[in-house]
Amino acid sequence: MSSSKTNGTLFIVSTPIGNLGDITFRAIETLKSVAMIAAEDTRQTRKLLNHYELSTPMMSYFEHNRFAQIPKIIAKLQSGESVAVVSDAGTPGISDPAYRLIREAIDKEIRVEPIPGASASISALVVSGLPTDRFLFEGFLPPKKGRKARIEKMKNETATIILYESPYRLVKTLSQLEEILGNRPAVVARELTKMFEEIKRGTLSDLISYFSQSKPKGECVILLGKDHTNVYF
Ligand code: SAM
Repeated sequence: MSSSKTNGTLFIVSTPIGNLGDITFRAIETLKSVAMIAAEDTRQTRKLLNHYELSTPMMSYFEHNRFAQIPKIIAKLQSGESVAVVSDAGTPGISDPAYRLIREAIDKEIRVEPIPGASASISALVVSGLPTDRFLFEGFLPPKKGRKARIEKMKNETATIILYESPYRLVKTLSQLEEILGNRPAVVARELTKMFEEIKRGTLSDLISYFSQSKPKGECVILLGKDHTNVYF
Protein backbone atom coordinates (compact mmCIF):
# COMPACT_ATOMS: atom_id res chain seq x y z
CA MET A 1 0.00 0.00 0.00
CA SER A 2 1.37 3.41 -0.91
CA SER A 3 0.80 6.00 1.77
CA SER A 4 2.01 8.87 -0.44
CA LYS A 5 -1.57 10.21 -0.92
CA THR A 6 -1.96 11.16 2.72
CA ASN A 7 1.64 12.05 3.56
CA GLY A 8 2.97 15.57 3.25
CA THR A 9 6.01 16.35 1.08
CA LEU A 10 9.58 16.88 2.23
CA PHE A 11 10.96 19.84 0.25
CA ILE A 12 14.76 20.23 0.00
CA VAL A 13 15.02 24.00 -0.36
CA SER A 14 18.20 25.75 -1.53
CA THR A 15 18.86 29.13 0.09
CA PRO A 16 21.46 31.85 -0.74
CA ILE A 17 25.21 31.35 -0.18
CA GLY A 18 25.64 34.99 0.82
CA ASN A 19 23.55 37.38 -1.25
CA LEU A 20 19.96 37.24 0.03
CA GLY A 21 18.68 37.92 -3.49
CA ASP A 22 19.85 34.47 -4.64
CA ILE A 23 16.68 32.55 -3.86
CA THR A 24 13.98 31.44 -6.26
CA PHE A 25 10.31 32.52 -6.26
CA ARG A 26 9.41 28.87 -5.81
CA ALA A 27 11.65 28.56 -2.74
CA ILE A 28 9.90 31.54 -1.13
CA GLU A 29 6.46 30.14 -2.00
CA THR A 30 7.47 26.76 -0.59
CA LEU A 31 8.85 28.23 2.65
CA LYS A 32 5.59 30.14 3.01
CA SER A 33 3.30 27.19 2.33
CA VAL A 34 4.82 24.42 4.48
CA ALA A 35 3.73 23.69 8.06
CA MET A 36 7.32 23.65 9.34
CA ILE A 37 10.84 24.57 8.28
CA ALA A 38 13.57 22.27 9.60
CA ALA A 39 16.59 24.61 9.76
CA GLU A 40 20.24 23.86 10.47
CA ASP A 41 20.56 27.12 12.42
CA THR A 42 17.23 28.76 13.23
CA ARG A 43 18.88 32.14 13.99
CA GLN A 44 20.50 32.20 10.55
CA THR A 45 17.28 31.16 8.79
CA ARG A 46 15.33 33.75 10.82
CA LYS A 47 17.28 36.48 8.97
CA LEU A 48 16.14 35.04 5.64
CA LEU A 49 12.53 34.67 6.80
CA ASN A 50 12.48 38.23 8.16
CA HIS A 51 13.93 39.57 4.90
CA TYR A 52 11.09 37.92 2.93
CA GLU A 53 8.46 38.57 5.63
CA LEU A 54 7.75 34.89 6.22
CA SER A 55 6.46 33.64 9.55
CA THR A 56 6.49 29.86 9.09
CA PRO A 57 7.35 27.98 12.31
CA MET A 58 10.85 26.53 12.51
CA MET A 59 12.47 23.62 14.29
CA SER A 60 16.16 22.89 14.46
CA TYR A 61 17.66 20.01 12.51
CA PHE A 62 21.43 19.71 12.47
CA GLU A 63 24.12 17.05 12.43
CA HIS A 64 24.15 16.40 16.18
CA ASN A 65 20.41 16.44 16.94
CA ARG A 66 19.33 14.51 13.86
CA PHE A 67 18.57 11.22 15.64
CA ALA A 68 16.11 13.02 17.94
CA GLN A 69 14.65 15.26 15.24
CA ILE A 70 14.17 12.86 12.33
CA PRO A 71 11.28 10.93 13.98
CA LYS A 72 9.51 14.24 14.78
CA ILE A 73 9.85 15.44 11.18
CA ILE A 74 8.71 12.09 9.80
CA ALA A 75 5.68 12.08 12.15
CA LYS A 76 4.70 15.53 10.87
CA LEU A 77 4.99 14.39 7.26
CA GLN A 78 2.96 11.26 8.01
CA SER A 79 0.24 13.41 9.55
CA GLY A 80 -0.19 15.02 6.13
CA GLU A 81 1.78 18.23 6.72
CA SER A 82 4.66 19.29 4.47
CA VAL A 83 8.10 20.23 5.76
CA ALA A 84 10.91 22.22 4.13
CA VAL A 85 14.50 21.50 5.08
CA VAL A 86 17.07 24.30 4.75
CA SER A 87 20.72 24.58 5.73
CA ASP A 88 22.68 27.69 6.69
CA ALA A 89 23.57 28.31 3.07
CA GLY A 90 23.17 26.72 -0.33
CA THR A 91 21.75 23.29 -1.04
CA PRO A 92 20.90 21.02 1.91
CA GLY A 93 22.65 17.67 1.61
CA ILE A 94 25.74 19.16 -0.05
CA SER A 95 28.24 19.04 2.86
CA ASP A 96 25.23 19.87 5.03
CA PRO A 97 22.79 17.70 6.99
CA ALA A 98 19.76 16.36 5.10
CA TYR A 99 20.93 13.01 3.75
CA ARG A 100 19.71 10.87 6.65
CA LEU A 101 16.38 12.66 6.78
CA ILE A 102 15.95 12.16 3.03
CA ARG A 103 16.80 8.43 3.35
CA GLU A 104 14.29 8.03 6.16
CA ALA A 105 11.58 9.85 4.18
CA ILE A 106 12.23 7.65 1.14
CA ASP A 107 12.04 4.52 3.33
CA LYS A 108 8.66 5.71 4.62
CA GLU A 109 7.44 6.35 1.03
CA ILE A 110 7.23 10.07 1.62
CA ARG A 111 7.58 12.28 -1.43
CA VAL A 112 10.87 14.23 -1.53
CA GLU A 113 10.99 17.26 -3.84
CA PRO A 114 13.98 19.48 -4.67
CA ILE A 115 13.63 23.25 -4.83
CA PRO A 116 16.87 23.99 -6.69
CA GLY A 117 19.10 27.01 -6.17
CA ALA A 118 22.57 28.09 -5.11
CA SER A 119 25.45 25.83 -4.20
CA ALA A 120 28.97 27.18 -3.65
CA SER A 121 30.36 24.16 -5.53
CA ILE A 122 28.68 24.89 -8.87
CA SER A 123 29.04 28.67 -8.59
CA ALA A 124 32.79 28.24 -8.02
CA LEU A 125 33.14 25.70 -10.82
CA VAL A 126 31.53 27.86 -13.49
CA VAL A 127 33.72 30.90 -12.78
CA SER A 128 36.94 28.91 -12.25
CA GLY A 129 37.96 28.66 -15.90
CA LEU A 130 38.78 24.99 -15.29
CA PRO A 131 37.08 22.33 -17.43
CA THR A 132 33.43 21.91 -16.48
CA ASP A 133 32.58 18.88 -18.64
CA ARG A 134 33.58 16.48 -15.85
CA PHE A 135 34.03 17.30 -12.18
CA LEU A 136 34.43 15.51 -8.87
CA PHE A 137 32.97 16.99 -5.72
CA GLU A 138 35.21 16.02 -2.78
CA GLY A 139 33.53 18.19 -0.13
CA PHE A 140 35.63 18.79 3.01
CA LEU A 141 38.81 16.81 3.64
CA PRO A 142 38.89 15.26 7.12
CA PRO A 143 40.30 17.91 9.54
CA LYS A 144 43.09 15.68 10.88
CA LYS A 145 43.43 11.94 10.31
CA GLY A 146 42.97 10.58 6.80
CA ARG A 147 43.67 13.79 4.87
CA LYS A 148 46.72 12.47 3.01
CA ALA A 149 45.01 9.20 2.10
CA ARG A 150 42.06 11.12 0.61
CA ILE A 151 44.40 13.33 -1.44
CA GLU A 152 46.41 10.27 -2.62
CA LYS A 153 43.16 8.91 -4.12
CA MET A 154 42.90 12.04 -6.31
CA LYS A 155 46.23 11.33 -8.03
CA ASN A 156 44.82 9.78 -11.20
CA GLU A 157 41.68 11.89 -11.32
CA THR A 158 41.43 13.82 -14.59
CA ALA A 159 38.15 15.62 -13.86
CA THR A 160 38.16 19.05 -12.19
CA ILE A 161 38.18 18.50 -8.41
CA ILE A 162 36.08 20.69 -6.08
CA LEU A 163 36.87 20.94 -2.36
CA TYR A 164 35.35 22.97 0.47
CA GLU A 165 37.74 24.48 3.00
CA SER A 166 37.76 26.87 5.92
CA PRO A 167 40.00 29.95 5.54
CA TYR A 168 42.05 28.83 8.59
CA ARG A 169 43.17 25.63 6.88
CA LEU A 170 43.38 26.98 3.33
CA VAL A 171 47.16 27.34 3.04
CA LYS A 172 47.80 24.05 4.83
CA THR A 173 45.42 22.26 2.46
CA LEU A 174 46.85 23.91 -0.67
CA SER A 175 50.34 22.88 0.51
CA GLN A 176 49.32 19.26 1.10
CA LEU A 177 47.61 19.16 -2.29
CA GLU A 178 50.79 20.44 -3.98
CA GLU A 179 53.00 18.04 -2.02
CA ILE A 180 50.97 14.99 -3.11
CA LEU A 181 49.51 15.98 -6.49
CA GLY A 182 52.20 18.33 -7.82
CA ASN A 183 51.85 21.91 -8.99
CA ARG A 184 48.44 21.65 -10.64
CA PRO A 185 46.35 24.50 -12.05
CA ALA A 186 44.16 25.65 -9.18
CA VAL A 187 41.55 28.22 -8.26
CA VAL A 188 40.32 29.55 -4.91
CA ALA A 189 36.81 31.07 -5.01
CA ARG A 190 36.24 33.05 -1.83
CA GLU A 191 33.18 34.84 -0.42
CA LEU A 192 31.08 34.12 -3.53
CA THR A 193 28.11 36.47 -4.01
CA LYS A 194 29.31 38.62 -1.07
CA MET A 195 30.93 42.06 -0.91
CA PHE A 196 34.52 40.76 -0.88
CA GLU A 197 34.10 38.05 -3.51
CA GLU A 198 37.47 36.97 -4.90
CA ILE A 199 38.37 34.41 -7.57
CA LYS A 200 42.11 33.71 -7.53
CA ARG A 201 43.41 31.61 -10.43
CA GLY A 202 46.91 30.18 -10.91
CA THR A 203 48.84 27.11 -9.87
CA LEU A 204 48.88 25.60 -6.40
CA SER A 205 52.23 27.24 -5.68
CA ASP A 206 50.95 30.67 -6.88
CA LEU A 207 47.98 30.34 -4.55
CA ILE A 208 50.11 29.20 -1.60
CA SER A 209 52.35 32.26 -1.89
CA TYR A 210 49.38 34.63 -2.44
CA PHE A 211 47.35 33.37 0.53
CA SER A 212 50.44 33.14 2.78
CA GLN A 213 50.87 36.89 2.28
CA SER A 214 47.23 37.98 2.33
CA LYS A 215 45.52 35.88 5.03
CA PRO A 216 42.21 34.64 3.61
CA LYS A 217 38.95 35.49 5.36
CA GLY A 218 35.51 34.04 4.75
CA GLU A 219 34.36 30.90 3.01
CA CYS A 220 36.45 29.22 0.33
CA VAL A 221 36.13 26.67 -2.45
CA ILE A 222 39.31 25.10 -3.89
CA LEU A 223 39.27 23.76 -7.45
CA LEU A 224 42.00 21.71 -9.11
CA GLY A 225 42.67 21.00 -12.77
CA LYS A 226 44.61 17.96 -13.90
CA ASP A 227 47.24 19.68 -16.05
CA HIS A 228 47.58 22.69 -18.29
CA THR A 229 45.63 21.17 -21.20
CA ASN A 230 42.54 23.35 -21.68
CA VAL A 231 43.69 25.73 -18.94
CA TYR A 232 44.72 29.18 -20.11
CA PHE A 233 46.22 30.69 -16.97
N1 SAM B 1 25.36 23.39 1.33
C1 SAM B 1 26.34 24.38 0.93
C2 SAM B 1 26.38 24.46 -0.58
O1 SAM B 1 25.48 23.97 -1.24
O2 SAM B 1 27.33 25.05 -1.12
C3 SAM B 1 27.71 24.08 1.53
C4 SAM B 1 27.72 24.06 3.03
S1 SAM B 1 29.27 23.71 3.74
C5 SAM B 1 28.87 23.45 5.42
C6 SAM B 1 30.03 25.28 3.84
C7 SAM B 1 31.21 25.42 2.89
O3 SAM B 1 30.73 25.78 1.58
C8 SAM B 1 32.18 26.54 3.26
O4 SAM B 1 33.14 26.10 4.19
C9 SAM B 1 32.80 26.86 1.92
O5 SAM B 1 33.78 25.91 1.59
C10 SAM B 1 31.60 26.69 0.97
N2 SAM B 1 30.89 27.97 0.82
C11 SAM B 1 29.66 28.28 1.30
N3 SAM B 1 29.33 29.54 0.95
C12 SAM B 1 30.36 30.03 0.23
C13 SAM B 1 30.62 31.27 -0.40
N4 SAM B 1 29.75 32.27 -0.36
N5 SAM B 1 31.80 31.42 -1.07
C14 SAM B 1 32.70 30.42 -1.11
N6 SAM B 1 32.51 29.22 -0.52
C15 SAM B 1 31.35 29.03 0.15
